[in-house]
Amino acid sequence: MDLELLKNALIRLFHRGFEKEKIQKLFNFLVRETSPQHRLFYPNLLGVRLNFTHQETLRLVTYGVLDGLFEMTWQVFCPQCTAPNFETKSLKNLRLRERCAACGSDYEPHADQNVHVLLALHPRFYDEVINTTDEETPVAEAGVQPLTVLDLIGYPDFREHFTDQAPRLNQAIKIRNVSVMFTELIRSTEMYEVIGDVQAFLLVNEHFDILFDFILKKYGGVIKTIGDAVMAVFKEPGPAFEAAVDIKKRVDHFLNSKLKNFSSGIKIGLHVGPAVVVNLNENFDLFGATVNKAARLVSHAQLEAIAMSKEFMAQVHHLPETQNTDKITQNTVTLKGIKSEQLIYLYKVR
Ligand SMILES: [Zn+2]
Repeated sequence: MDLELLKNALIRLFHRGFEKEKIQKLFNFLVRETSPQHRLFYPNLLGVRLNFTHQETLRLVTYGVLDGLFEMTWQVFCPQCTAPNFETKSLKNLRLRERCAACGSDYEPHADQNVHVLLALHPRFYDEVINTTDEETPVAEAGVQPLTVLDLIGYPDFREHFTDQAPRLNQAIKIRNVSVMFTELIRSTEMYEVIGDVQAFLLVNEHFDILFDFILKKYGGVIKTIGDAVMAVFKEPGPAFEAAVDIKKRVDHFLNSKLKNFSSGIKIGLHVGPAVVVNLNENFDLFGATVNKAARLVSHAQLEAIAMSKEFMAQVHHLPETQNTDKITQNTVTLKGIKSEQLIYLYKVR
């Protein structure tokens, strides 16, 4: 292995915001755990072995690939027999249905489940890459949560730099179960009038920083912002709920500390269900009934409380927080564009 070349490549990560100590750990990992015959590894393994946070791991995948340190592959697993089925360089190559080469069953690639990202140290770091006839097994560890398509497309820097991976216009990638969060600022139009455009713009951006940080800390992703509203996704409803409570507390506190004689706050709506990843304006977007309902739900959230759909509540009712009946009220509402009345739950945060 060309260690000098590798060191120089890793220095670039320092300029991408990684701490020296973590880069050193990464260097040791790459030298010890990879070889010309075994270049592949699952990036999520670094989280466990090298103490990288979820956000740092997503950052490493994004900039490691962008800076030519790694090559990225998507590995598709058969949900029936769990065998790795095939690998592809681009998400554009995923079809709605695949046939397993190992067990012969038909299955669907799901962005939140059986399509995992796999990295390989770039061949230029080796004197020669030995292509073995044996199936190359990546460095893996049992019990480590894989990084899926959903993890990557929810990371803003990945979305920014890997738009070429967005599905084709006639293609969609299914998501089996995703928690969708929508937020909006209370009285935001008035706020612009009262404090002025520049101040309001700065305030909205600062509130995005707080939001994004809490979302990524709870293994969620940011799909888009629409004015001062945010659409975020989470693989698991528990962390989505925890993020919502944290965001509500922190953003409300932030707004109240910045706005004198003007009361505002953040509204948050949570829903869960299947969705699809599609291409909108040459970038990743999420689409479907779950997304629509989540978007409608946020208008029923209150200054004091987060709004949750019946379906979302059913998935978080076991949490100690949601068993506190003093904090929860039910309401029947009509959601725009949805015919039947909907039962929703309001969780009091303030
Ligand atoms: Zn199979």
